[in-house]
Amino acid sequence: MGKFHPNVDKYVVSRVRALESILRDKGLLAPDAVDRIVERYESDTGPMAGARAVARAWSNPTYRQRLLTNSTAALADLGLDYDSLVVVENTPQVHNLVVCTLCSCYPWPVLGLPPNWYKSPAYRSRAVSEPRALLRELGLEIPDGREIRVWDSSAEMRYMVLPIRPGGTDGLHEDQLIPLVTRDAMIGVAEVATPGRA
Ligand code: FE
Repeated sequence: MGKFHPNVDKYVVSRVRALESILRDKGLLAPDAVDRIVERYESDTGPMAGARAVARAWSNPTYRQRLLTNSTAALADLGLDYDSLVVVENTPQVHNLVVCTLCSCYPWPVLGLPPNWYKSPAYRSRAVSEPRALLRELGLEIPDGREIRVWDSSAEMRYMVLPIRPGGTDGLHEDQLIPLVTRDAMIGVAEVATPGRA
């Protein structure tokens, strides 16, 4: 990913498809192998890693502070080797939103594959020009009094949102908090809902 231009992304996609079909034809790649890897990135490895960090930060103030000030060390605690992530914290006063205006830079090791809309020109421009309207259309109402900070990712620096811990979760253990944390909440286009509520 990195600094690839969208046209370069298309070129890469074509190359990957070609390589995939050659490997399949030669019997070096099971037909569903790539799908399985993609699926793992989408649903397990990816967002799960970020969700684990968020759940631990909600449960442990010392870890939370470290995640916000030294994400590399905090992620290493979870067995992740990743050194270009800044974690930004949502508060009642501030909501954070992550975008890559230039292309589609995204913290793959912690969030997995980016959703398709993340790469869309509309998201990339409107996140900056009218974030409040964009979030409203995505179902997230941020009141005028709450500041929206937009973080523009680059090849050098990626961002992840630490969402607000939802009410009604005081009794939950770290492991029980993990499945509540969604990818969208860590991008900043959603908040984490109280369990049992939509
Ligand atoms: Fe990018």
